[in-house]
Amino acid sequence: MERRFYDELAQASLQGDILSDELCLHLLTSPKIELLPLLDAAYQVRKKHTGNEVQLHIINNAQNGYCPEDCYYCAQAKSSNADIEAYALKSDAEMLAEAEAAYESGAYRYCMVFAGRGPSKKRVQHLAKLIGEIKSRYPIQVCLSAGLIDDADADMLKAAGLDRLNHNLNTSETHYPKICTTHTYQDRLNTLDAAQTAGIELCAGIIVGMGEAAKDVVEVAKTLRKLEVQSIPVNFLLPIPGNALSQPPDLSPEYCLRVLCLYRFLNPKAEIRIAAGREVHLRNMQVMALYPANSLFVEGYLNAKGASRKQTLQMIKDAGFTIKADRALEELLKQEEATQNLLTIDDRETRLKDIKDLRPQI
Ligand code: SF4
Repeated sequence: MERRFYDELAQASLQGDILSDELCLHLLTSPKIELLPLLDAAYQVRKKHTGNEVQLHIINNAQNGYCPEDCYYCAQAKSSNADIEAYALKSDAEMLAEAEAAYESGAYRYCMVFAGRGPSKKRVQHLAKLIGEIKSRYPIQVCLSAGLIDDADADMLKAAGLDRLNHNLNTSETHYPKICTTHTYQDRLNTLDAAQTAGIELCAGIIVGMGEAAKDVVEVAKTLRKLEVQSIPVNFLLPIPGNALSQPPDLSPEYCLRVLCLYRFLNPKAEIRIAAGREVHLRNMQVMALYPANSLFVEGYLNAKGASRKQTLQMIKDAGFTIKADRALEELLKQEEATQNLLTIDDRETRLKDIKDLRPQI
């Protein structure tokens, strides 16, 4: 494609145009698309709306396993035999200590994730108290992922100071029954609606590599745009042995980068996060993902290890990006010593976290 094609793409996104389905599919699948000009076009949009900053997220797996739902991609699902370290809810003291550690390590946002279909009313009250406590102690953004919630739950969490609620769409409406049977796509939309109505920011994204077609990837991006989602995690399936979806997906680094560019064009102002699977599926090309995306996880994912914090910070610095944090990137890098459990960039296997990764404060 000629240079003009990519310039017009960036311009269309910057003007707020919604790209046609045909063009979106072309960007994802056509051999005529060249990666570097595509990344550059996405970067023009990223730079205009989010500058050169990268937001660092740390995920806290507040309760691991014992979920009655059957999401086929999830190691905590009742349908999974994955060899994870299951545990019931962490204590408040443990979660507060982890919030402090996240803040001290430069994280902009602290994400607490609770397995399960959705919280009971008692659990929502407990979460509200905990969120209030974290917000009163540390100047950190708090995000919660707790399954399905209703309007009353959302109001209570908002009043407690919750900044953002995560509830991923994961895939398109038509593909959804192929990845989960215990709740519906509409259930998920209802939860997002409850949070949005209460005034909580939305975090909702996709998992690429679950047998969906390119049109499903496009559909999710457009649904997220319609919902005006502020934060979009783009995950690439981590095939965990024991899960219903345990086969490695056929994802090339180039395809993953095309997906991230598409998500930027369709959601120009959103925080686009390179989420789970960046180490395994992007491999040597991870750094290129910083051009369309402006956010990533450090210290791994729910049950899978990721690159070390030092490795990730170094990558950001080497590429000339900065971080959104109270402390300078250089200062945080100096603080990092030789890391353990380093996942090398050409590692193709999903490695599960052990109990020390999951519960560093006990
Ligand atoms: S994704 Fe959430 S609801 Fe689904 S099985 Fe995993 S913990 Fe349960």
